[in-house]
Amino acid sequence: MDIYWHRRDHRTVDVRGLAGEARLLPVYVVDPAVVETLGTRQRAFVHRALESLRARYRELGTDLVVRHGEAAAVLEGLTAETGAECVRYAEGYTPARRVQQARVDDRLETRRFVDTVLVDPASLMGGDLDVARENSTTRGDSGAEISSYDTYSQFYRAWQREPKPDPVAEPNADRLVSVERLDDHESTALPFADVDPSISLPEASQGAARERLEAFCDRGLDSYGDTRDDLAAAVDNPTQAVSRLSPYLAVGLVGIRELWQAVATRYVEATGDVERNVESYGSEIAWREWAYHQLSVHPQLATEDYDPLPNEIEWRDAPADLAAWKRGETGFPLVDAGMAQLEAEGYIHNRPRQVVASFLTKHLLIDWRAGERHFRDRLIDYDPATNPASWQWIASTGTDSVDNRIFDPVSQFEKYDPDGRFVRAYVPQLADVPAEVLAKWPTLEATTRDEYAPSYPDPIVDRNEGFRRAKAVFGAALGEQ
Ligand SMILES: Cc1cc2nc3c(=O)[nH]c(=O)nc-3n(C[C@H](O)[C@H](O)[C@H](O)COP(=O)(O)OP(=O)(O)OC[C@H]3O[C@@H](n4cnc5c(N)ncnc54)[C@H](O)[C@@H]3O)c2cc1C
Repeated sequence: MDIYWHRRDHRTVDVRGLAGEARLLPVYVVDPAVVETLGTRQRAFVHRALESLRARYRELGTDLVVRHGEAAAVLEGLTAETGAECVRYAEGYTPARRVQQARVDDRLETRRFVDTVLVDPASLMGGDLDVARENSTTRGDSGAEISSYDTYSQFYRAWQREPKPDPVAEPNADRLVSVERLDDHESTALPFADVDPSISLPEASQGAARERLEAFCDRGLDSYGDTRDDLAAAVDNPTQAVSRLSPYLAVGLVGIRELWQAVATRYVEATGDVERNVESYGSEIAWREWAYHQLSVHPQLATEDYDPLPNEIEWRDAPADLAAWKRGETGFPLVDAGMAQLEAEGYIHNRPRQVVASFLTKHLLIDWRAGERHFRDRLIDYDPATNPASWQWIASTGTDSVDNRIFDPVSQFEKYDPDGRFVRAYVPQLADVPAEVLAKWPTLEATTRDEYAPSYPDPIVDRNEGFRRAKAVFGAALGEQ
């Protein structure tokens, strides 16, 4: 009999460690070293995901054994108690999860599975992550035997060539060790029962995740590339314009192989425009894989620049500006609408996600780490690889082919929300302002703005001055002046 140690995978379907012949005891460990790294809203979502996982195991005639404490000590105790031969688990990539799994490996017989990503980051780097990490300073050196990839397009080419494994089925009930139903008392209780998410959460079950996937494949996938940046569609058809699968992926309620198979099946049948649209979705999944690649090479992705610029970036210490950004009161309509969506839903559409992140790190010149932490606390779909990798991409700290990318919040509005549908949906003070006025908003005279929306805040930075300042500071960091 083996123990299956659930970590970020809150499901029974498409879990590699649950496949095979061995009989299994499913276990979840509430380890303070790891749970502390989760944001408030995601904790509440994880609680519900665990409730549904436990319910599924009960349907299968067993129970999810929950224990609190340091993972290695807990699993060692359980192994002794049950006579388990081996502990199986899915590989984790953050510093906290690496330390945790290394301790378990030291003390027990283990089997580790690549489960969070389609392609094992190690296999793209010559098979040994530790060697690759040591050599990661040689990134970009031609001829380096083991190297990571400098840009997404290099990574994407290599990643496309790798085989993508099929999903695995849920284990049959007779492979699960039957345990008596565990009553919830202190030592077996699910964590985060008392966390109030303060917003309504999507249903946190693998059934809900699968329904979302199927509905998107039926009604959104074929036009994804055309609608993914359309912010009016994001308001009118939020789950067709984009998939909204990110919360489910983030807490492992859907397997990446299951998702990939659904997309690849459609891709094989598709031609012309549909083929292009489906391919666009596949490429976004590859961006997620690229983020895990970066986290594998650079475990400190959430705290250290990936590839530091030659000189230090002169970030501003500007607590009032940071607070205004968090409240969605910058006076830039698209930025404030994005931050309002984050506050209301624990989610932001990718387009405004980029705009708000660029505004913080470029127009306000505030260190990307402050934004990364805020997102971690507020997002339901917070992902420990994608969030820091995306912040670093926007902040130009080493993961992009462009030296200094700056999104202009005014032209982004004109291009992606030309009717102001998104802004009006999320910023009530601007609900009656015509689109052509919204388009010029931060550049209008204060008296004109007051006529239209007296209670909406003035811009906290001049649009052109913010742009020039960011150019100058990043130019200096790049050694251009
Ligand atoms: C500053 C910043 C922070 C971000 N933080 C997160 C995060 O914590 N968690 C998260 O899941 N995504 C994050 N993203 C990426 C992206 O915004 C979200 O994945 C996407 O908006 C989720 O909505 P969806 O599921 O409808 O995406 P879809 O457009 O339907 O895409 C499908 C899936 O592809 C992946 N994906 C899509 N876009 C990206 C991308 N740019 N980079 C990596 N993967 C992508 C996601 O897993 C997503 O669920 C961040 C982006 C930025 C700019």
